[in-house]
Amino acid sequence: MIENIRLNLQRVIDESYDILIGYGLLENIPLDLKRNPLGNKYAIITDSNLKDLYGEKLLERFREENLNACLIDVPAGEESKSLDTVGYLVGKLLENNLDRKSAVIALGGGVVGDLSGFTASIFMRGIPYIQVPTTLLAQVDSSIGGKTAVDTIEGKNLIGAFYQPKKVYIDPSLLKTLPKREFISGLAEVIKYGVIYDRKFFEYLEKNINEIKRLNEEKLLHIIRTSCIIKKSVVEEDPRDENKRAILNYGHTPAHALERLSGYKCLHGEAVSVGMRISGWIAVRKGFWSLDEWERQNRLIESFGLPLEMDFEIEEFIKALYYDKKVEGGTLMFVFPKCIGEMASINGKYKIPVSEKELRIFLRELVNN
Ligand code: NAD
Ligand code: ZN
Repeated sequence: MIENIRLNLQRVIDESYDILIGYGLLENIPLDLKRNPLGNKYAIITDSNLKDLYGEKLLERFREENLNACLIDVPAGEESKSLDTVGYLVGKLLENNLDRKSAVIALGGGVVGDLSGFTASIFMRGIPYIQVPTTLLAQVDSSIGGKTAVDTIEGKNLIGAFYQPKKVYIDPSLLKTLPKREFISGLAEVIKYGVIYDRKFFEYLEKNINEIKRLNEEKLLHIIRTSCIIKKSVVEEDPRDENKRAILNYGHTPAHALERLSGYKCLHGEAVSVGMRISGWIAVRKGFWSLDEWERQNRLIESFGLPLEMDFEIEEFIKALYYDKKVEGGTLMFVFPKCIGEMASINGKYKIPVSEKELRIFLRELVNN
């Protein structure tokens, strides 16, 4: 005799949130939170570089609004995206008396965003958090979409959760202090958005290279806003990363392999640039994309000062590709442009398999050219 007691837990959840963009927005966050509270106490989590640049001032602003807040920092750099740091942060949150009714403010680049979001997702089984991205990469990419994660020695982002922020506050004026190389690196993702989704935006980038590089306010605002809208549209279509969201990973299968081979010395956007040249070439050779447009993409990448090539040994590179989360049943999967502004699909599926044999041939052609 078996008894069956069913626990019914179907639920409809609304995880919608606003992305606010504006110069000088940072200062206004405490006032906005006073009007629309997220918790009884706030922990601002940031890194060692940003603590003095923006963290202390933001904490000050919270206090001016009589909001209960504390500031916690972790060493800057990818090494902080670890379970050890999550443990450290949980300790600090408890030490500062944060509880189930408190909230986290992630003030930083993708490292702080991924780490704080993940910590918020597990602290007391989940407390709300907001994103205050400070790098171009974080403002156009990592702060939106709710992917949170930490790395392990086996690889990047292997532990994590889908956990959406309650709000994203993007203040482009913070980019003025960002090292140039980091800024340029973030532009790789911006170019990616043009290639995968928006031809007009790609043309806009071609026409405004110098002003964008000089951080012209109007142009910067336009590229951030457009990138956010593209990411938002793709995430809305496929929040759980089951098909279409893979197009956001254009160039990323090779990029992740290159990052791994470089011992994570190259910046993410630099690897993505080289990755877009490689994925684009495979797209051309497999008949998805035209040679002309591939060359046009590469010219844009280069004119922003991003690399198109990195030294690697083909067999080692292929081995490193298998660590990608897009590998399915042992097969390497790529996403390919069909034209600038649109990605290719086969029977509605955007991830397209490539055999090792084909890959070897295409890579040799690239290396020899
Ligand atoms: P990062 O967070 O390490 O920041 C880069 C450097 O710039 C750091 O030294 C930081 O202290 C400094 N910095 C940040 N903002 C600054 C500012 N305004 N002024 C001066 N210095 C500043 O790097 P990142 O490129 O922003 O993020 C990379 C991480 O993002 C990776 O771990 C990657 O896995 C993750 N990521 C996540 C997603 C996602 O969807 N969650 C998407 C893409 C990347
Ligand atoms: Zn990326």
